[in-house]
Amino acid sequence: MILLITAITPEANAVLDGYSMKKIAHGSLCLYESEQETLRLLVTGPGKLSAAMAVTEYLTRYPVSDEDLFCNLGICGGSSDTPLGEGYLCASVTEATTEKSLYPELYSHPFPEARLITSDVPVTVLSDNYKHETTLPLLYDMEAYGVATALFRQVLPSRCFFYKVVSDVCDGNFPSPEAVTALIKKTLPLLLSFLKEAEQILKKRTTEQTDFTSRIQTMTKDFMSGVSFSATMERKLTGLLTYAIRSGFTKEAIFDALPKRSDTPHKKKEALMRLQALENFLLTAPKEDSYSLSTKPKKTLHRPFRHIYVEREVLQHPVTRGVLARFPSASVIPITHYKDVFNRSKQDVQAQENEPSLILASNHGTLIYPGAPVCQNFNETHFMYTSCIMNCIYNCDYCYLQGMYPGKTPVVFVNLEDYFAELDALLKKHPVYLCCSYDSDLTALSGILPHAEAFCRYALEHPTLRLELRTKSAALPFLRQLPAAKNIIMAFTFSPQEIISRYEHYTPSLRARLNTAKEAAQKGFSLRLCFDPVLDVPNAEAMYSTLVEQVFEVLTPEEITDISLGVFRLSKDYLKQLKKAKPACALSHYPYEVTNGVCHYSAMRCEQLLTSVQQALHRHKISDDQIFIWTPEES
Ligand code: SF4
Repeated sequence: MILLITAITPEANAVLDGYSMKKIAHGSLCLYESEQETLRLLVTGPGKLSAAMAVTEYLTRYPVSDEDLFCNLGICGGSSDTPLGEGYLCASVTEATTEKSLYPELYSHPFPEARLITSDVPVTVLSDNYKHETTLPLLYDMEAYGVATALFRQVLPSRCFFYKVVSDVCDGNFPSPEAVTALIKKTLPLLLSFLKEAEQILKKRTTEQTDFTSRIQTMTKDFMSGVSFSATMERKLTGLLTYAIRSGFTKEAIFDALPKRSDTPHKKKEALMRLQALENFLLTAPKEDSYSLSTKPKKTLHRPFRHIYVEREVLQHPVTRGVLARFPSASVIPITHYKDVFNRSKQDVQAQENEPSLILASNHGTLIYPGAPVCQNFNETHFMYTSCIMNCIYNCDYCYLQGMYPGKTPVVFVNLEDYFAELDALLKKHPVYLCCSYDSDLTALSGILPHAEAFCRYALEHPTLRLELRTKSAALPFLRQLPAAKNIIMAFTFSPQEIISRYEHYTPSLRARLNTAKEAAQKGFSLRLCFDPVLDVPNAEAMYSTLVEQVFEVLTPEEITDISLGVFRLSKDYLKQLKKAKPACALSHYPYEVTNGVCHYSAMRCEQLLTSVQQALHRHKISDDQIFIWTPEES
């Protein structure tokens, strides 16, 4: 269902004239519905407060469904650079008095974008407050912020649209009611066709998820019939069946593998036994017949950033200016604090993956931290960690960042000078081993951001700093310009090509990573190979042994400084988030064990996986001294 929200009767008339609608709510709510019941029109009355009250009342009376879209449609004041009659989708909605802003999430659409300022009175004189800081046109209305405040409490910002048609240039010359109706009417067909298309996409997504959930519910019911499951056991069963189906097992394969039902009167005991049998089967069955890792095609490359949010504090920072120059067609939206956008609730992570935005910000407070226990410390005494970019342009299905952050939008802290000042102070006290590329892949972003190069240049000037740059990238243009330095450790993560294709979206191929690693080693940088995380997928041992062979077809043992080896692990809370972000990925539903809040494979499975990689490495004269292993006991 699409709800159009207008403020005044002449705006509403444009919709009522073109679509056959009947009034369905009386009293304080002025609501119309089309005969097909797929389109509604809410007329709020003028002003922010009326708009907020009407939308709040609507949401109370009509609960939001996953397929609903909301569009605040109306006229607005523009300026000399916004043609009369032009319709804009608004990328931000700001309350004029408080300067508080809300940010709808905008994805593929055919409209020009603008920033909208909601004022309490009609704007007749343009203020210069915002003009200097934006590349987007500024529009003025009297309702949108009220609508946004009410909607954003319940509705995903990707399902809220603010579409405004320029009716005057804020000079006090307002159009007649008939002219308002005509202006809106003209833009309506394109707007509605866009909204209907967006609704269809949403419906498809919701249907897929609902179908899957009901499939699992039916299987769970069948599995439990005749035996006695507690609520906890039922939850575990649902998790196992989700893992099974997401891994490609058929219902028949699962049920055939289970022991036959016994006539025992101990229904609970039998339930436990069947649950255990299911888990054993899923973790040990040869799955080649039902599950091919290479069936899922790799996703295509990212598009350039369409929206760049910039903290006002760093609008003039040289790094900001450099980034904006690289993306001249991006909509630049000034913000007060990166969290206003980054921490929005109910973000559409799936849409963010397909159409990424960027946030440029400044980081304050402590910027360098001690390393986390789930990270390998390589026996370094002063193992430190810093996060100058949060989120990654790659999209690995198992990535912990999806559990850590509320959205996929990368936040780039441009104030590198503050990071280096803090490092200066630390290095005066002791040597530092610093990992600067954990919460992002700095090297992958080195084509558009100076961060990777800046940290390397700092390391070149500070030999007591050992810098690790972890990457899956195959682009090292900046390293080619630098003199060799052993205190810069280029750490490449390698995975079997089947895993790259299925789970590491947008990342370069194994072959490309290997060639780049070779170049880094030959140039004279320290080279670390990371087989981390090793994933427990079908035929894992064979796949990782082949990977090691492929590595040594390109690299020699002498070129390798050391090796990091570890199985997949993730904090329990992050895994919960990962399941929401990647419900279709089998890795999110694996029956992990939990130690100190960290989810991991069983000790036996860890041992098997790690030993197989270790043995493959030994065959190439890599000694145990060169291999750093992460095991669950370290959590
Ligand atoms: S490359 Fe690393 S940081 Fe980026 S998505 Fe993959 S796992 Fe996450």
